[in-house]
Formats: sequence, C-alpha cells, structure tokens
Amino acid sequence: MRKKNILAIFPGSFDPITKGHLDVINRGRLIFDELIVAIGSSSEKKNLFTLKQRKEMVQELVADMPRVRVDSFEGLMVEYAAKQKVDVILRGLRSLTDVHYEFRLAMTNRAVANIETVFIMASAEYGFTSSTLIREVATLGGDISKFIPEQIYDRMQKQLHELKEGK
Ligand code: ADP
Repeated sequence: MRKKNILAIFPGSFDPITKGHLDVINRGRLIFDELIVAIGSSSEKKNLFTLKQRKEMVQELVADMPRVRVDSFEGLMVEYAAKQKVDVILRGLRSLTDVHYEFRLAMTNRAVANIETVFIMASAEYGFTSSTLIREVATLGGDISKFIPEQIYDRMQKQLHELKEGK
C-alpha cells in the first residue's frame, strides 16, 4: 500500500548552497510531503565554510518554505536517514558523470538500507555548476554571482577575504 506522508532527504555538503541546490529543493518540495535538507559533516578540512556556517546559510534560504527543514549528520547518510525514518533520498543530476557516480551510490544505499533514490534533472541554467567549481572560481577572483543567492555571495566574499588575511 502507498505510504501517505512521504519524507525525503536531500543530502549534500552545501559548501556553499547554490542556486542549483535551491532549484532542486524548490522542485522537490512540490513532489514530497516533507523534505529534510541534510548537511554532511565529513571532510571538514577541505571545506570553505564550517558545518555551522553551512547550516546557517541553508536555514536562512529555506526559512519561509513550509515542510522543509534543515539538519546535519555525521558519518553514514543512510544511517541518519534510517533514524529519521526517511522514505526517499533526493539527488540532483547534472551530467553523465553524475549518473555514473549516483547510480552506484543509489544501488549501494538501497542494498544497505533499502531506501529508494529519486533524481531531479538540473535546470539548464545551473546544470553545469557545482559548489566545488564555484569555490575554485571565486578563490581565483572570478565572478560567480550568477550561481549563488545574493546573501551567500556576500558571505563568500567575506570568508575568502578572511582566509586571505589568515584570520
Ligand atoms: P556539489 O556537487 O555542488 O559539491 P553537494 O555535494 O552539496 O554539491 O550535492 C548535493 C546534491 O545536489 C547532489 O545530488 C548534487 O548532484 C546536487 N546538485 C549540486 N549542484 C547542482 C545543480 N547545479 N543542479 C542540480 N543539482 C545539483
């Protein structure tokens, strides 16, 4: 029998959250009854923003979206998802490279935790961007303002400035 209230999780590193992520969140929340945007805390060292900062930024952007909440998790995402009694993992697909990786990830997650993964195709205008690329371009002084929300852009400029100053 079909479950009535479908809870989905959109996991990622969100370092920082981009317009591509927001697009997936906005489209995902029309499909599912509830959505948890879950920020992973692993590989903290390579990140531009701390987990706390990433969570604050996502929270600010989804604050007025009903049925969307933000959380963070440590370790295995499916363990967190199982604890939260999540029904579906939501992921975005940008390219064939994503498909290769996501295919194996989805198969593993289903084998390990019996959770289905549902994919949303990236929108044409953001399909080629990633947080990693945005961080790289911004670090080298490129203009990435088109790809991230305005308030995130300001925080990113500040963060990069502080890093440069060695703060
Ligand atoms: P990134 O790959 O940008 O570093 P994350 O690890 O935070 O980001 O990715 C979390 C999820 O968001 C993944 O499913 C990823 O495919 C998806 N995603 C990231 N950027 C985009 C985008 N521009 N359009 C659609 N989905 C995206």
